[in-house]
Amino acid sequence: MEEIQVKIKNSFAKKYQSGFPLLIKEAIINVQDLKEEGKLVKVIDERGEFLGRGYYGRQNKGYGWILTQKETELFDEAFFHKKISTALNRRSSLYQDDSTTAFRVFNGEGDGIGGVTIDYYDGFYVLSWYSEGVYQFKELIIESLKSLIEYKGIYQKKRFDTGGKYIEEDDFVIGERGEFPLMVKENGVNFAVYLNEGPMTGIFLDQRDVRKTIRDKYAKGKTVLNTFSYTGAFSVFAAVGGARKTTSVDLANRSLEKTKEQFELNNINPDTEDIKVMDVFKYFDFAKKNNITFDMVILDPPSFARSKKHTFSVAKDYKDLIKDAIAITSLNGMIVASTNYAGFGMDKFKGFIQKAFNESGGNYSIIETFSLPEDFRTRKDFKEGNYLKVVFIQKK
Ligand code: SAH
Repeated sequence: MEEIQVKIKNSFAKKYQSGFPLLIKEAIINVQDLKEEGKLVKVIDERGEFLGRGYYGRQNKGYGWILTQKETELFDEAFFHKKISTALNRRSSLYQDDSTTAFRVFNGEGDGIGGVTIDYYDGFYVLSWYSEGVYQFKELIIESLKSLIEYKGIYQKKRFDTGGKYIEEDDFVIGERGEFPLMVKENGVNFAVYLNEGPMTGIFLDQRDVRKTIRDKYAKGKTVLNTFSYTGAFSVFAAVGGARKTTSVDLANRSLEKTKEQFELNNINPDTEDIKVMDVFKYFDFAKKNNITFDMVILDPPSFARSKKHTFSVAKDYKDLIKDAIAITSLNGMIVASTNYAGFGMDKFKGFIQKAFNESGGNYSIIETFSLPEDFRTRKDFKEGNYLKVVFIQKK
């Protein structure tokens, strides 16, 4: 297959030599040569020395991924088969654990192919393609997967860089379509998922360890506020863990019935829990005015969000969000601050927390922190890939 040469600036050569897998615009001398997504690229330094081989594909993160640093390696059936079978083997203990039937089996660059992920939902597989470029490998990847596992059905999500708009189409690929909701389990808790309703399935699998921790260690007897609650996953785990009462707040209409559904599946009466369809920032104002406080406040906003009154961006506004939470958390209560924003690391996130407490005039201690769980495999030479940051903070 025809190959484009991508020349890397001297100042970036070391980074790529030591395994950095993402093609970024700033590092490339001849960006103008990258025209057609999916083209294979040979990556070289300014002297023409080989650095790696990969593909061109535009996604929010960059211009494509290097898939090998071995000059003779080809992207053939054997290549994909090996990557996927290695990834599946790494998850063998999760496959054997009956109490968890939804998890990630292939995590992009962490498992050796940047731009594609594969999730498992009780017999069904969901592939997410993050660029048109990686989508050219569809046949090879799906054929490898099919030859390695038994499956009921396979779905796919095209999450190409289309300016935030999801490509609406039938996501079904092959096998049985299945019936939705599909019931899955996570650490013994039931969850209803929908594999053919846009980009999200109802559960964010990367928070598994955090949900378990809330249930097993912190929820008992507590009042819990779950902001940006989506389908209420954190609320359900808190309730199962014996929370006195949960309050879930999300402005999407669908969140009400979906959250009820998750409670019911776990024999929790949704009428005794609070589910509010409203702007989180309005809810903070309401709670402050009425002196409502909580023993635990969970913050897990999207990286960017626009509501009628507010534009929220994690990078600019997280500190203020924590201040809002501090104001309505009881003394010795817990704030669970989470973000999936890849643009900064744990240190900077902890800096926001410190600043928020300084400005609010209070003390705190960090009780525990989380990043991505084991099945969301990451690599040392690409720290940005470990995007999840969760901090359990006790207000003192
Ligand atoms: N914490 C959730 C996932 C959050 S997804 C979980 O663990 O499952 C982000 C959610 O934030 C979406 O459901 C979206 O509707 C909601 N959202 C975005 N802006 C909001 C706002 N200003 N107020 C309330 N909810 C908001």
